[in-house]
Amino acid sequence: MKNNLLYLLLLLSTHAFAQSPKEKGLNSINKESAEAYITFLAHDLLEGREAGKRGSRIAAEYIKSVLQGIGIKPYPETYYQSFEAYSKERQKRTRFYVHPDTIAKYREEDAHRKLELKNVLGYIEGKNKNECVIIGAHYDHLGIDESLANDKIYNGADDNASGVSAVLQIAKAFLMSGEKPEHSIIFAFWDGEELGLLGSEYFMLSYNSSVKIKGYLNFDMIGRNNNETKPKQVVYFYTEAHPAFGEWLKDDIICYDIQLEPDYKPWDKPIGGSDNASFAKRDIPVIWYHTDGHPDYHQPGDHVEKINWEKLVSITKAAYLNLWNLANLDKY
Ligand SMILES: [Zn+2]
Repeated sequence: MKNNLLYLLLLLSTHAFAQSPKEKGLNSINKESAEAYITFLAHDLLEGREAGKRGSRIAAEYIKSVLQGIGIKPYPETYYQSFEAYSKERQKRTRFYVHPDTIAKYREEDAHRKLELKNVLGYIEGKNKNECVIIGAHYDHLGIDESLANDKIYNGADDNASGVSAVLQIAKAFLMSGEKPEHSIIFAFWDGEELGLLGSEYFMLSYNSSVKIKGYLNFDMIGRNNNETKPKQVVYFYTEAHPAFGEWLKDDIICYDIQLEPDYKPWDKPIGGSDNASFAKRDIPVIWYHTDGHPDYHQPGDHVEKINWEKLVSITKAAYLNLWNLANLDKY
């Protein structure tokens, strides 16, 4: 009798502490990983990760190695999606383009500029291979300005090593959950965002798969405080036609005690600001986390020691829960 009671107590306690697959993934997200990823990417040795330059090539190689180490497969066959961007010569001050028609036109000009760029893409196959979701962040930044008198390197810790750290941690969390998602997931690290959303635009221009993209989740700058008196503030943009996205976050904040105070910003057509535009303009529903502007925005002072780690980790967890729904629910 006594033994039976002990057994029952043991059973109850292990049951109470057993984690669901979703919670296993959630609990793998931590500050240590975020610090490791961001400290490397925002190091002076990476020279501000300017698209097409040495520092951004090292960043791409690093992201690829981390994906391999975690066990994330490449998409579709290789981790790198290489592409070219063209513009007129520098004095004409035009932007870079990836559309094949524009490239063909610029190639005919005697003097034009050309960049060799690459997105880094990872993949988890879902049970239903006909639909997928994408989560992404750009990894390029502004490089070096030798004419600056003091600090010459635009380290881009917040913009956007912070977002890259979130995508990497969420990729790992999905594997840690041990559960295959319903829909496949593409983990995307975009190049050339600072030059005009080049990587995400190229990805969508060249996307010719019959697999339907059900949604896109974007990060761009998730590690700073816009207002120091509101350290839990985050802007949560989402496609207005999908009010479920707002409900998901509200519920998860309560259910998982996520320490965030979001500004909910439903948006009828979220085609501005960052790589979300490349998806929203093609009518793919988006979610975009952003902690707003700050004095170091696009300045050499965007340094790793200014990151609000608690908030960054909370946003990563909230977004993992969003992606869990995006990848596992049929309708939203
Ligand atoms: Zn950015």
